Amino acid sequence: MATPKRFIAGAICPRCAEMDRIRAWEQNGVRYRDCVSCDFFEQLPIEDDGQAELETRVNREHEAPQADDFQTVKILDPKG
Ligand SMILES: [Zn+2]
Repeated sequence: MATPKRFIAGAICPRCAEMDRIRAWEQNGVRYRDCVSCDFFEQLPIEDDGQAELETRVNREHEAPQADDFQTVKILDPKG
């Protein structure tokens, strides 16, 4: 599974500072970027980003309602 190399519009190479020279593509769950003006090359894992977003969303849905119920019970307690 590989996507074709595509230029990123407006991207500036961190090594030679040329604009519109960065190409990006994906292969085997890894995102690659390189520069056609110099020998800049880097690779970034794609899977980590997606997992982090999913965990945050699940935690929010579970915690918010439980906190509200706990506070209501305490306020209405007649003891004291
Ligand atoms: Zn470059």
